[in-house]
Amino acid sequence: MASVDVTIVILYFYLMLDFNICDKARLDRDARYDGVFFVGVKTSKIYCRTICPVRQPLPKNVTYFQTASAAEADGYRPCLRCRPEAAPFSPAWNGTLTTVNRAIQLIEDGALDNGSVEALAERLGVGSRHLSRLFKKHLGASPIQVARTKRLQKAKRLLDNSELKISSIAFKSGYGSIRQFNDCFLEKYRQSPSQYRKKYCKSCAS
Ligand SMILES: [Zn+2]
Repeated sequence: MASVDVTIVILYFYLMLDFNICDKARLDRDARYDGVFFVGVKTSKIYCRTICPVRQPLPKNVTYFQTASAAEADGYRPCLRCRPEAAPFSPAWNGTLTTVNRAIQLIEDGALDNGSVEALAERLGVGSRHLSRLFKKHLGASPIQVARTKRLQKAKRLLDNSELKISSIAFKSGYGSIRQFNDCFLEKYRQSPSQYRKKYCKSCAS
């Protein structure tokens, strides 16, 4: 989900928590609403995230809260299964997002062009499996996949906006060889970098 959508959803919920929308999101265990609002179960006085795996109560037994604090202020206790303290936008969640953002910065600076995910994780002070889990959670892709996309995007920008030779672009973007650049570009754009440039960038040298 794009961040702009999240902002709109949050604004909407600050204005008015619509019971039917909340209830549908809860029954669908819709992860897009995770952390946007919380579900209070009147019978147990426990509050949950929308994604809670526990058996779902009847609509007449639930109430909705904009924040964990609002639920607690109303006498509800946090669920031990879905752990509201780790929901999106919580301090714990923001902390893991910070780690991911720092990792992305290092990847953009070339940390995975020659180095390993293990070395990257070590620089961030976390384990590599933990880092991979955080990437999956926040970005839906592994560190290697993110690095691959960043490399290709950088190369594409240079192809479009510079007159650098294809070989210079390959190395500037972090590819180990021109062949590797060619293969990756071909895979995603169905044409080689030089074919692309001939077609779309007539003023550039190839
Ligand atoms: Zn729960």
